[in-house]
Amino acid sequence: MYQLRLAARSASPIGRSRNRRPDIKDMKFYVRTYGCQMNVADSNEIGRHLKAKGLVETQDPQDASIYLVNTCTVRQHAEDRAFSEIGRLGRWKAKRPGRKVVVSGCAAERTKEYLEDRFPFIDLVVGAKSIENFNEIAGRLLDRRATDEDLDYAVPAVNEKVAAFVTSMRGCNYSCTYCIVPYVRGREIYHSIDQILAEVRDRVSEGAREITLLGQTVNSYRHGQHRFADLLRAVAGIDGVERIRFISPHPYYMTDRVIETMATVPQVCESLHLPVQSGSNTMLKSMMRNYTREHYIALAGKMRQAVPDMTLSTDIIVGFPGETEEDFRQTLSLVEELQFDWGFVFKYSAREGTPAAELECLPQQLIEERHQRCLELVDRIALKKRLDLVGTIQDVLIEELGVGRTRTNYKVHVRREAQARQGAASINEAQARAERKPARSASPIGRSLKRRAQPQEKAAASSNIIHGDQVRVRITNAQRATLEGEVYNGNLAFENFREEDCRAGTCPDRQ
Ligand code: SAM
Ligand code: SF4
Repeated sequence: MYQLRLAARSASPIGRSRNRRPDIKDMKFYVRTYGCQMNVADSNEIGRHLKAKGLVETQDPQDASIYLVNTCTVRQHAEDRAFSEIGRLGRWKAKRPGRKVVVSGCAAERTKEYLEDRFPFIDLVVGAKSIENFNEIAGRLLDRRATDEDLDYAVPAVNEKVAAFVTSMRGCNYSCTYCIVPYVRGREIYHSIDQILAEVRDRVSEGAREITLLGQTVNSYRHGQHRFADLLRAVAGIDGVERIRFISPHPYYMTDRVIETMATVPQVCESLHLPVQSGSNTMLKSMMRNYTREHYIALAGKMRQAVPDMTLSTDIIVGFPGETEEDFRQTLSLVEELQFDWGFVFKYSAREGTPAAELECLPQQLIEERHQRCLELVDRIALKKRLDLVGTIQDVLIEELGVGRTRTNYKVHVRREAQARQGAASINEAQARAERKPARSASPIGRSLKRRAQPQEKAAASSNIIHGDQVRVRITNAQRATLEGEVYNGNLAFENFREEDCRAGTCPDRQ
């Protein structure tokens, strides 16, 4: 589950015409997102459309005029949670005249009529296939509202996220027998490279330094002559992009060109989330995944050889119909053999309309037991891997105060006391500095560590670290899901030591 943050208000009007007659004033919207990163990206896109129309995002539902629930239907549990939230919105809406409830996403696509029947107070249902048309649909929603001509209208916010999602393709051409996604999101469509790069530039100009390309089978990307490896290289060529990730790749499209690109393009991070689903060939066949256990293991080996420090994570489904104890043990043995850095273990959830939903389900208690056993194994290995990192030095891109990520995609809590030992100012002071921080550098060339420090970063080196900074962190502790660390030898600016700077007396190390 993901909740959009309140973005800072900008002083400059973006995406609006000065001559347009204001018809929306002080309408705020609140977004609740369920499900995967694709849904987060869709929520961001919807938010951008609403902001361009003059609405402001809020984190407080009581402050909002529009409440948007972006739903997920991949598993029953996610759908149930969204529906129970929607159920509570009848009272929310009744509290203030003019409030609107909008339901979007995959569950909205699958159950539109049911939603409209069960929750008649919903103003708009936007299925996942229609997200790209949200602008036009939202226009209709807002036009129904009485205008408030006396008041000025809201200024769109600026998204200051350091790590941004960019959708490169939608839909899925696969037919994994358990999966509802192809039904609710439709067949694959690919955005053109130009469109993707334009969006990357927008996100960078808003403050992003890390771009995650999104698609259900993101590496099946094709547009004209371009394939996924070309897209990675093109994104790496954009000034300001320091890190690139992508999710979810499919094993079938992890081609030699993609592997070579990961190994050689410095901005592409050393981290791969490659869903395997099962370690049993019988199950993989029944799921209609078009690879075998042996193929996956060979691919993982090839990847690790090409990108030695890479973290490898995965998705696993346990309790798929027909899964025997032996099939399940094959999954456990695959996890042991590949030593995934982390993994998501899902209990099989029958989705109406999918081929697997026709098959006889395993007893729920058995599914629960296998889930527990698999989770314990995955977590035990993950913790061991994290503990192995204690004492190492990692490059961490700070995403919010005191929290960042390694290139290998570990979340790191950077200890405040350590910042203080580095001569840091108080957290409040750091926040104030963050607000004053000017637009960031437009020219990282090559690996981010080799990037020349910009003046504001040099200043940061001698005081505190703020979001968007890259810092070297010594890992001091490992938790189940995160790492802890302390700033090591100051800000990345120290890494950019150049002799001529020192001769000129401008070396940050000497100041
Ligand atoms: N497209 C990605 C791929 O092929 O690997 C996965 C996208 S899917 C939205 C995310 C994960 O949800 C899958 O990798 C799978 O493990 C899980 N999943 C999908 N359908 C499921 C179901 N019916 N029951 C349990 N888990 C499911
Ligand atoms: Fe679902 Fe399979 Fe498509 Fe992934 S590849 S979205 S699991 S159908």
